[in-house]
Amino acid sequence: MPSRQTHLKIHLFLSPLMFVTMPLLLQLSIKETLFWGLGLWASEHMLSPDLDLAHSKASQAWGPLQFLWKPYAKLFRHRGVSHTFVLGALTRILYLGMIGICCIAPFWLQWHNAAFSQNFFPLKWWGTCYLWFGLGVTCGNAVHIGADHFLSYSKKWRKELGRRWGWL
Ligand SMILES: [Zn+2]
Repeated sequence: MPSRQTHLKIHLFLSPLMFVTMPLLLQLSIKETLFWGLGLWASEHMLSPDLDLAHSKASQAWGPLQFLWKPYAKLFRHRGVSHTFVLGALTRILYLGMIGICCIAPFWLQWHNAAFSQNFFPLKWWGTCYLWFGLGVTCGNAVHIGADHFLSYSKKWRKELGRRWGWL
């Protein structure tokens, strides 16, 4: 399994390329580009697939809030669903969203009124933000999952070649 440092180096190398390429290809607005970039950044720094480990550098990134990810690590075994393309990112975004809703709900129920919602939470505006943030996390996580697979297989191949032919 690649170390956290290796994942961060790969992320640091590829994410700027992805950050620039997507807005150019799809002519994204500034808002969409910002949330796409935020998602890419969060994908490895805050929402890494390795949050499925009970004790990991990925969960330590949350500092005093790292306890929030303990139930997630209990729910998902390491390199299981959490390390799948799209679905893995979705589990982390929904998990975090549920925590957010639980925190906001008491205030929401207290202060909620229709005018406030219309002014500060227009659904379409936030929908676009979630969409591009989610895509950023998904694509960033795909890099992590790809690196996990590639580096694991290359280690296996090197071992196999070394065993068979005395290479490497
Ligand atoms: Zn991993």
